[in-house]
Amino acid sequence: MSIKVIVAGFKGRMGATAVDMIKEDKDLVLAALLDPFAKEKEIDGVPVFTDKRELSQFSADVWVDFTTPKVAYENTHFALENGFRPVVGTTGFTKEEISELIDLSASKKIGGLIAPNFAIGAILLMEFAAKASKYFPDLEIIELHHDKKKDAPSGTAVKTAELIKEVRSYKEQGAKDEEETLPGARGAEFDGFRIHSVRLPGLVAHQEVIFGAQGEGLTLRHDSYNRVSFMSGVNLGIKKVVKQEQLVYGLEHLL
Ligand code: NAP
Repeated sequence: MSIKVIVAGFKGRMGATAVDMIKEDKDLVLAALLDPFAKEKEIDGVPVFTDKRELSQFSADVWVDFTTPKVAYENTHFALENGFRPVVGTTGFTKEEISELIDLSASKKIGGLIAPNFAIGAILLMEFAAKASKYFPDLEIIELHHDKKKDAPSGTAVKTAELIKEVRSYKEQGAKDEEETLPGARGAEFDGFRIHSVRLPGLVAHQEVIFGAQGEGLTLRHDSYNRVSFMSGVNLGIKKVVKQEQLVYGLEHLL
C-alpha cells in the first residue's frame, strides 16, 4: 500500500530534494506541499497549501518537514495532533520540546522521527565519537555548513555532544587561566568541551570530532557533499514511522 506524504518546506534545498526522492519511489505518493510563500495552487496535480491549518481535514500518512527552526516545533505538534506521522529534518528543537513531542506521540499512539541528521555516515560518526570519548575525554567538535544555515551549532553537533555527555565523565578542558582576547574564540561550551561552527559558501554539511591525549590524537570526520546523502535516511524514516507508535529522536532508533 502506498504511503501518502506531505512535504513542508518543499521550496527549500532539502524539501525540494525530498520531493524528488518521493516522486521516484513507487511506494510513496506526494499528497500535498506546504510553503507559506508559495504562489502556485498545485504542482503536477499535487495541491499546494500556504497555511498548515488548511491541512487539518486532509488525509495523509506522513508529514516530512524541512522548514526553519522557528516553525519546526509548531509544525511537528500540528502534524501529531492531526494524525500525520512527522519525519522531521528541521533542526533547532530544545530538549524540552523533543520530550513533549515524544509524550504527545505516545498519547496518540503515532510514530514519528526527529532526525538531526539523515546521513548514515553521520549516524556512525556520532556513535563512534561517543565510544571514543570514554577513552579520550578531551575533545572538540567542529561542524561546518553552508552559509545559509540559520541555526548554530548544528543539530548534529548538539546530538553528538549529548551522546558524548551520556558516556564521558564531566571534564573542564583547556587551561584553568585561559583567556579569550577575542570573544567566542574558544567556541561554545558544552559539558566542559567546545563546539565550533564554520559557515562558508560551497560547503553542504560536515563534522569533525577531534580527540587529544598524551602524545596521540584521533580525528573522526563525516562529509555530506550533496543533499542526496540524506535521502535514503528520509525514505527509511517515512517507511518506518507508519509502523511505530511513538516518536523517536535520531535515525539510529529506526535502523
Ligand atoms: P531552506 O533552503 O532555507 O529551506 C527551508 C524552506 O522552508 C524555505 O523554502 C522556507 O521558505 C520554508 N518555510 C519557512 N517557514 C515555513 C513554514 N511555516 N511552512 C513551510 N515552509 C516554510 O533550508 P534547508 O537547507 O532546506 O534546510 C531546512 C532545515 O533542514 C534546516 O533546519 C536544516 O538545518 C535542516 N537540515 C537537516 C538535515 C538532516 O539530515 N536532518 C540535513 C540538512 C539540513 P522561505 O525561504 O521563503 O522562508
